Amino acid sequence: MADRSFIKVVKFGGSSLADAEHFKKAADIILSDPTRRYVVPSAPGKCAADNRKVTDMLIRCCGLAADRADYKPLLADIKARYDAIINGLGMDYSLDAEFEKIDAELRRGAALDYVASRGEYLNGLVLAHYIGYEFVDASEIIFFGPDKQFDADRTNLFASERLLELKNAVVPGFYGALPCGDIKTFSRGGSDVTGAIVARAVMADIYENWTDVSGFLMCDPRIVENPRPIHKITYRELRELSYMGATVLHEDSIFPVKLAGIPINIRNTNDPSDPGTMIVSESEESAPDIITGIAGKKGFSVVHLEKDMMNVEVGFGMKVLQAFYDMNICFEHLPSGIDTMSVIVETSLIKDREGFLLSKLSRMVTPDHISITQDLALIAVVGRGMVNYPGTASRVFSAIAREGINIRMIDQGSSELNIIIGVAERDFEAAIRAVYNEFCKNGKLS
Ligand code: ADP
Ligand code: ASP
Ligand code: MG
Repeated sequence: MADRSFIKVVKFGGSSLADAEHFKKAADIILSDPTRRYVVPSAPGKCAADNRKVTDMLIRCCGLAADRADYKPLLADIKARYDAIINGLGMDYSLDAEFEKIDAELRRGAALDYVASRGEYLNGLVLAHYIGYEFVDASEIIFFGPDKQFDADRTNLFASERLLELKNAVVPGFYGALPCGDIKTFSRGGSDVTGAIVARAVMADIYENWTDVSGFLMCDPRIVENPRPIHKITYRELRELSYMGATVLHEDSIFPVKLAGIPINIRNTNDPSDPGTMIVSESEESAPDIITGIAGKKGFSVVHLEKDMMNVEVGFGMKVLQAFYDMNICFEHLPSGIDTMSVIVETSLIKDREGFLLSKLSRMVTPDHISITQDLALIAVVGRGMVNYPGTASRVFSAIAREGINIRMIDQGSSELNIIIGVAERDFEAAIRAVYNEFCKNGKLS
């Protein structure tokens, strides 16, 4: 067994392994530090020569094959992406046999999860050969149960035993195996989750997540120009932000590492000297900033119910939620007044079932008025420091109002870790910029 010294698990995202140039940068980062023993790669993301993610191409390929359409040109494009990486790195290595196998599986009607996972699998093979690390197929150490849910205990047992006896290893991200041996993927962006699982299994001292930005920024850089970086953030804050659209890190990657108290360090493959963001269980800072970050998502709907005296009608709320439960719809927020109640849901969950939902609710609670409004965007203003600063909520609302934007919904978490605001989708970006500018002037928070 290798020495139990300092261990780093490093995950590289798709943009960090998109082409040969990025592969070289990633390899330099890995090999410059012998404690970077376990590497989790994503599939190649968008690159200068091709604006497509390999995972998207594979998913499309599978769809074409299922429709009995010609998927071969697309599969050839995918192979060309890997060949360009292999040739650009000057390697004597071929994936021909692997692509023949994928082709044969596609002809046989391969399952979507299997096909989608091949992006990581192949990138893992190439990376392992390039840096001289052992290749460990994720299907041998990452398991899902018969209910298709991730089996944390079994995975931890197997992954820990297998990986700790190796000096180093590359474990492809994004997938594992079902009890029958079939491949199952995590949801999109799931290589972050694999990295966290591997970090827990080898009891890593740190989980480095290498991407294309210098850590977590206060807002999505595609919405706010040059947002202030976040140097330190707690797991809880990060989960709120990633759940609400800050896509830097998959929201489920928090659980395995939080359980083991392993800090995550988000780093930039294109700027390795930048310390990035540390994600920790409890910040050592005595006085955290007033707000930590702002994130948001479009695509929500409000189901609004009105009924006089609903506040004294025992079971009203329960019946409303029962209707959603019966239709297998989970809700995001539940703002309510004395005679009103709103249920905020993802629009995709009620799509084409709005009429059914409305009549079911009408039957179950006989409201005076019921309606569904679509095109809602939710914005989360998150910060563990908010609790220390009275008036934060009013500053958020005033900033948005000054832009002439109508706030359709407000919900403040009871932990005072976040304030959630609903606005029309068309006002989404402007509202985020308004809140950011209210709290951050010339790069300084106040
Ligand atoms: P990877 O390919 O490494 O997994 P992702 O594309 O999943 O990377 O995540 C990184 C991207 O997340 C950044 O390029 C950026 O556009 C986006 N992003 C959204 N919100 C934020 C934020 N608050 N801070 C930094 N990046 C953000
Ligand atoms: N390649 C997968 C995706 O595009 C997983 C990941 O990149 O984390 O979603
Ligand atoms: Mg990602």
